[in-house]
Amino acid sequence: MPFNQPAPELTNQYVDDRVLRSYLRRALPAEVLQQIEPQLTEMGELAGGPLYGFQRADRLSEPVHTPWDAWGNRIDQVEVSALWRTAEQLAARHGLIAIPYERALGAWSRVHQFALVYLFTPSTDVYSCPLAMTDGAARTLSVAGNADLRTRALPHLTSRDPREFWTSGQWMTESTGGSDVGLSETVARQDDQGRWRLYGRKWFTSAVTSRMSLTLARPEGNPAGGKGLALFYLETRGEDGHLNNILVHRLKDKLGTRKVPTAELTLDGTIAVPVLGLSEGIRNIAPMLNVTRTWNSVSAVSYMRRGIALARDYALKRIAFGAPLAEKPLHLDTLAGMQAEFEAAFHLTFLLVEMIGRDEAGELSAEEKDLLRLLTPIVKLTTAKQCVSAVSEALECFGGAGYVEDTGLPMLLRDCQVFSIWEGTTNVLSLDALRAVSGVSALDALGRRVAALTSTVTDARLLEPARQAEQAILEAVRWLEATSKHGTEGVEAGARRFALTLGRALGLALLVRHAQWGLNAESDERSLAAVLRFASHGVKSIGDSDLGLSRSLALG
Ligand SMILES: Cc1cc2nc3c(=O)[nH]c(=O)nc-3n(C[C@H](O)[C@H](O)[C@H](O)COP(=O)(O)OP(=O)(O)OC[C@H]3O[C@@H](n4cnc5c(N)ncnc54)[C@H](O)[C@@H]3O)c2cc1C
Repeated sequence: MPFNQPAPELTNQYVDDRVLRSYLRRALPAEVLQQIEPQLTEMGELAGGPLYGFQRADRLSEPVHTPWDAWGNRIDQVEVSALWRTAEQLAARHGLIAIPYERALGAWSRVHQFALVYLFTPSTDVYSCPLAMTDGAARTLSVAGNADLRTRALPHLTSRDPREFWTSGQWMTESTGGSDVGLSETVARQDDQGRWRLYGRKWFTSAVTSRMSLTLARPEGNPAGGKGLALFYLETRGEDGHLNNILVHRLKDKLGTRKVPTAELTLDGTIAVPVLGLSEGIRNIAPMLNVTRTWNSVSAVSYMRRGIALARDYALKRIAFGAPLAEKPLHLDTLAGMQAEFEAAFHLTFLLVEMIGRDEAGELSAEEKDLLRLLTPIVKLTTAKQCVSAVSEALECFGGAGYVEDTGLPMLLRDCQVFSIWEGTTNVLSLDALRAVSGVSALDALGRRVAALTSTVTDARLLEPARQAEQAILEAVRWLEATSKHGTEGVEAGARRFALTLGRALGLALLVRHAQWGLNAESDERSLAAVLRFASHGVKSIGDSDLGLSRSLALG
């Protein structure tokens, strides 16, 4: 036999994850960790073993749309892949949506849920997409105060029984705009029996196989713009099993997320129920977006982790120039850089997760609520960018094999590219972060949080990175104050760099805190190494730019 390159392998993805385990030891009360560890171990075994094998075997299968039956009836059936069908069953049985609604662990329930999601996600080809929307819908219906819809849908969305479990869609984007949703053209009209019916075209509807969806439409006579839209609930099929006056035109032919059935569809008299009033739909769907953005952040760190786990295993096996890659200083340096970015992204994401859990348990102060409002866009946009970069690097760690489809590696990069697009692009979320800091105490709260994190430092090696994090926040605040004096254009132009500075500075501060704890409690220097490396990548990207010059550079 000629020489073959060794395939990368995974072991138990919980047992093997130093960062997750160390975080849980620090963050959770010991008895809580003890309670959830068997389930995490089981999910880690699945994700690194049978599910990972299934994922590779199912690599080429994609959803199939059958518009017509043999007798010319319009049926619009969409069949998803075998991996997805299994993923749905597993998600229900493991309570991936149920856990935060049962709230058995109080404020820690979100950490419990998302630790499982983080393990589950990279082995299930973006099944996290319908789950994210399902969690978002469950949250929205929980807080909307519509008792009928709550009673009707919530038990299904949060069921642990796969036969009862429903997933939900989130149908917002129209061809007029995904970011500028206020331009939506779908109208809502009452029929003779007083039922609301929706008419319009939805341009990106992922997981079209869901049993229900939350969507936006403009009740006839309402004004143009976002305020005139209302939030509606619909079930995709009626009691007779037929589609609810929904035409599925086609599934999108996408770069990645190819197992996600993302459809273009027309609502042609679709029966729907207003969730909460007949206007302010964008405001009313916000709880859903906050949840789906958090799923996006968790998914981003899970993909980073998967890329690094595979690259690390390969480095131990692949021989080049007489030794395994793991003995080559430059390859080690490359892996260390990826790991440092991942660790910062991980701690950033799980701070957000902790805060959501505490919010839902009624434990957040008003100031912390403002901070949470700011962190949701900041963490989503920061981790999505880190993920694309780290996963791209992970592919390069395999040389040519990273570019070859049947290694399963290119799919990782194609899939994760979407994390910076859906649920709000980087720019759109940067502008949202600006809204979050205007007139409220969110920036002060962030500054205080960073100072509290860095105040735990006693090891001299952490002092300079701690100062770097504090300084970056300070300079971001000063930049905002100074630039705002000259109008909105400069602030808007710098919004992305401002947002990324906040995200990376907070990531560094969180890493610093964890590193100090790791030194004290675990005599482990690896988080310290992550701090030093992440700090050397830099956290600050704010700075004045000449708008005129930028314009000629961008368009010239
Ligand atoms: C695989 C996939 C699945 C999806 N599934 C769903 C789904 O299930 N439901 C759903 O509702 N949507 C879904 N979407 C749509 C997605 O949410 C939108 O594509 C996204 O919000 C961007 O909207 P857009 O495509 O209209 O781009 P645009 O809004 O046109 O944005 C184009 C570019 O302009 C930038 N931009 C826009 N406004 C500004 C501004 N004010 N300042 C600076 N830059 C700006 C953006 O950052 C972006 O780079 C999906 C998308 C993909 C790729």
